[in-house]
Amino acid sequence: MIEFQSVSKKYSDSASTLALADVSLNIAKGELVYLAGPSGAGKSTLMKMVAAIERPTSGRVIVNGQDVSRIRKAGIPFLRRNLGLIFQNQRLLNDRHILANVMLPLLVTGAHAAQAEQRARAALDKVGLLDRALALPMALSGGEQQRVAIARAIVNRPQIILADEPTANLDRAAADKVIDALHAFHSVGVTCVISSHDDEILDKAARVIRLEHGHVVGGAA
Ligand code: ADP
Ligand code: ADP
Repeated sequence: MIEFQSVSKKYSDSASTLALADVSLNIAKGELVYLAGPSGAGKSTLMKMVAAIERPTSGRVIVNGQDVSRIRKAGIPFLRRNLGLIFQNQRLLNDRHILANVMLPLLVTGAHAAQAEQRARAALDKVGLLDRALALPMALSGGEQQRVAIARAIVNRPQIILADEPTANLDRAAADKVIDALHAFHSVGVTCVISSHDDEILDKAARVIRLEHGHVVGGAA
C-alpha cells in the first residue's frame, strides 16, 4: 500500500545532510506501523512524502500503486482524499465549533450539509467526543483537540491514516486515548502510520520502523 524505493531527501536550504538517506520500506494494506526515532530523524519528512507535501530528491514513493514522487499538481487532491492526515501544523479553526471543523473536509468535496453533519457526528462519536460537538476548540483539552483532528482526518473515510507525533505535549492518559482512537480505525481495516519520538507510546505488538539521522535502522522489512 505504501512503498519507498531507495528514497533520499535533501532539503535545498540544508548544507549537506540528508533528511532521508536511501530509505526502502513496505507497509501493507491494513497494517499498523509506528515510526520511531529522535527529533530530526526524518519521520515527518517520510510522512510528507506519502502525501506529496514533499518530494524525494531521489528514489520513488508508491502509494496505492501510484508513483506519488512524480505526481502532477492536479493529482494531489485525489491522492489526499485517500489519506487522513494528522499533522502538527493543521490547527482547528478556533472560531467554529467542533462539528463545523469536522464537517469541513466533506463540504470542501461537495457533500450536502445534512449528510456532512451526519457523517461528522459519526466521526466525533468514534473518537468519543460527540457530546462536545457544539463546543469551540478552545474549550477542549489538548488531547480532546487532537481527537477532533483525528475525527476530521477520518471523516472522508480514507484508506490510510498518517499521524505525525499525535501524542506530542499530551499527558499519559490523554495520549492513551488518542492512540486508542487511532487503533480503533486500524481494527476496521485502515492502514495507520503513527510517528513518535517517545518510546513510551510505542505499542509493543505493532511493527516499529526506527529512523536515525535519516536512515532506517530497524523494521523496514
Ligand atoms: P522528525 O520528524 O523525525 O523530527 P524531520 O523529518 O522533521 O524529522 O526532519 C529531518 C531533518 O530534515 C532534520 O534535520 C530537519 O532539520 C530537516 N528539515 C525538515 N524540514 C525541513 C525544511 N522544510 N527545510 C530544511 N530542512 C528541513
Ligand atoms: P503548494 O500548493 O504551494 O505546493 P503545499 O500543498 O506543498 O503548497 O503546502 C504548503 C505547506 O502546507 C506544506 O509545507 C505543508 O507543511 C502544509 N500542507 C499542505 N497541505 C497539507 C496537508 N494536506 N496536510 C498537512 N500539511 C499540509
